[in-house]
Amino acid sequence: MLIAAAALLLCACGTPTGASATVIGSAAPVSPPMPANVSSAGPTPPTAQGSSPPACNPVASYRPAATMPVPGAMPAGSTMARIQARGKLVVGVDENTYLFGYLNAADGEIEGFEIDLATAVATALFGDAAGHVQLKPITAEQRIPDLLNGSVDIVVDTMTQNCARWQQIAFSTEYYAATQRLLTNKNSPYKSLSDLGGRKVCAETGSTSLETVTRAAGHPIPVGVDGITDCLVMLEQGEVGAISTDDAILIGLAVQDPQTHVIGPALEAEPYGIGIAPNSVDLVRFVNGVLDRMRADGSWTALYRKWPGQLGGPVPPPPPAVYRD
Ligand code: GLU
Repeated sequence: MLIAAAALLLCACGTPTGASATVIGSAAPVSPPMPANVSSAGPTPPTAQGSSPPACNPVASYRPAATMPVPGAMPAGSTMARIQARGKLVVGVDENTYLFGYLNAADGEIEGFEIDLATAVATALFGDAAGHVQLKPITAEQRIPDLLNGSVDIVVDTMTQNCARWQQIAFSTEYYAATQRLLTNKNSPYKSLSDLGGRKVCAETGSTSLETVTRAAGHPIPVGVDGITDCLVMLEQGEVGAISTDDAILIGLAVQDPQTHVIGPALEAEPYGIGIAPNSVDLVRFVNGVLDRMRADGSWTALYRKWPGQLGGPVPPPPPAVYRD
């Protein structure tokens, strides 16, 4: 089953460009194919973009209304009523992150913890999610633009809540507590990010992970890609020394390639929230109501067991809801 998942996930990476595979009889050196859109410039450090964002509590979100609207009967004029009238909740998701949002080779469906969370929101809106969820696979870099231009209603895509992002969008309360770490080949000498000075470290373009690598005191060389499975291919080909992203994502990569392992201390907390357009505070409150119910009635824990819990280890309590008003 894992082999099937791995085969599928590896197929989900970007279209290779550049040199092709071995040419029999050719004396020319052949370099391995590279995924599309590989960038080694790194993101512009926040300090170079202007002042840092005002301090905030990144996990504090808007309190749910005292009474949740009844499914199928959303308040007139609300964001939820607009979604109900359209008949579909449009959700930005990942399709490369095993157990969170990934394309399952066996049935061709995008599945995982985050897909089930989106389904729970759709069930609360429509009464029955069947036929009412439209999944839109997007890159990390597309998440904020897609929310701002209205092409998705919510983003459930391993998205870290932080103060810089709160300047552009809103978030639900925290639904998963991840931390940034590193993945390397088991036979590599690296033990932590400080060992990777001058070495290439891969992460998704538009991710907090790439920013952390860019800022690291030891000066690793950031390499940005569209999909995290592109990083795995580059690690396997020896083009990068390590991958750095959330532990939630890295555990899935390590399952796909048992020659790799997660190493080093936590580099940064990466609390996941559902991203929502900043002018849809009513939808944020509604989603928070759904998450509150899931924390209280055991369905968050059931989802945890169903997805990341497959890999063993203790089942944590759901991250608590923190409200700003
Ligand atoms: N959680 C990090 C972020 O939101 C990394 C996500 C990813 O690489 O997909 O930027």
